[in-house]
Amino acid sequence: MSISEAIPPASNNARHAVDVGGVIVGGDAPVVVQSMTNTDTADIEGTTAQIIELADAGSELVRITVNNNEAAAAVPHIAERLQIRNVRVPIVGDFHFNGHKLLAEHPACAETLDKYRINPGNVGRGAKKDKQFAEMIEFACRYNKPVRIGVNWGSLDQALLAELLDDNAKLPEPLPLDEMMRRAVIHSALQSAAQAEQLGLPANKIIISCKTSKVQDLVTIYQRLAEQSHYALHLGLTEAGMGSKGIVASTAALSVLLQQGIGDTIRISLTPEPGGSRSKEVQVAQEILQSMGLRAFTPMVIACPGCGRTTSTYFQQLAEDIQAYLREQMPHWRNSHPGVEHMNVAVMGCVVNGPGESKHANIGISLPGTGERPVAPVYIDGQKDVTLKGDDIAGEFKALVDSYVERNYPAAPARA
Ligand code: SF4
Repeated sequence: MSISEAIPPASNNARHAVDVGGVIVGGDAPVVVQSMTNTDTADIEGTTAQIIELADAGSELVRITVNNNEAAAAVPHIAERLQIRNVRVPIVGDFHFNGHKLLAEHPACAETLDKYRINPGNVGRGAKKDKQFAEMIEFACRYNKPVRIGVNWGSLDQALLAELLDDNAKLPEPLPLDEMMRRAVIHSALQSAAQAEQLGLPANKIIISCKTSKVQDLVTIYQRLAEQSHYALHLGLTEAGMGSKGIVASTAALSVLLQQGIGDTIRISLTPEPGGSRSKEVQVAQEILQSMGLRAFTPMVIACPGCGRTTSTYFQQLAEDIQAYLREQMPHWRNSHPGVEHMNVAVMGCVVNGPGESKHANIGISLPGTGERPVAPVYIDGQKDVTLKGDDIAGEFKALVDSYVERNYPAAPARA
């Protein structure tokens, strides 16, 4: 039997909705942003602090590695600290190799986690593979937890791959290796998901992912996954890399798929720059979704690129300052000023395009370009409101933004 015959196509591509600790992934729900810590999970304080940082940045699910007894024992303590600090974000446990043992030996960990991530390529070797996979699924059933079956190109089940390559080699016209790899990751995910269902885990408790580090492979694989199954899909380019390379590659891959309605939750696997914040991956995920008009998370700053008319760095500093200010306010504004995430703020470098762009924003400022009068007209809802001048244009503009937010995004009425 060929791979394509083994997995029947889905009749339509409606996704199952999966409840992950109160956050819905799939169905009609908006695309969910998730992230992963890079602390040692056994470091309870450090991991709690990073989860809070990621949640404050807007991560709606946070995954932590559960790789040994110390990490598993730490999980309930981390959850307790999050609860004390009123941080409500579902926690996902990432298991490899020894997950079946850790879940058996640490029932409080199994109970506390909101979802288990299982990599079928790293569950066990030989005869142990099916047994250990079944044990993990049984824990998910017992504790009523959803599971992500997360296949990764770099840790593909080698026995499965060898079997498929052997079959391929016998064909009169064998398929190229890269095509076989694409088929193998899909086969591994769908076969494991079918196995989980046979073991009693319902389809609405299963999310699948098939991550690769190459953009075109990822696009092809997820297009096929979407056609061949109804499972909710977790999307991400694995090992995307550092800086602009990681951001661009992730954006290129995810945008194509999201535009086609493929992807129920996303993670951007950025390598943090030395000393850089882990929450950058959350910011990038949000910016992809917001730029595509799929969701809104933070007020958007529209800034011109600057040119020979902006010969000082003042304009760049103000644009950066305003962007950072808006992002810093969001953990508070998210609750106190619902709807503020839809606000547009323009920060423009001179009067050539400044007033025009400012008029289209909710609030916009045009800074003086080189040789222009040192004044900065501010437009609010399309009308010229005030002209700022002097040494504290930035401070005064922020005060105008605050006042705009207070007036236009009032606090939701308290529930009786
Ligand atoms: S708005 Fe002014 S400063 Fe900005 S790019 Fe256009 S001409 Fe240059």
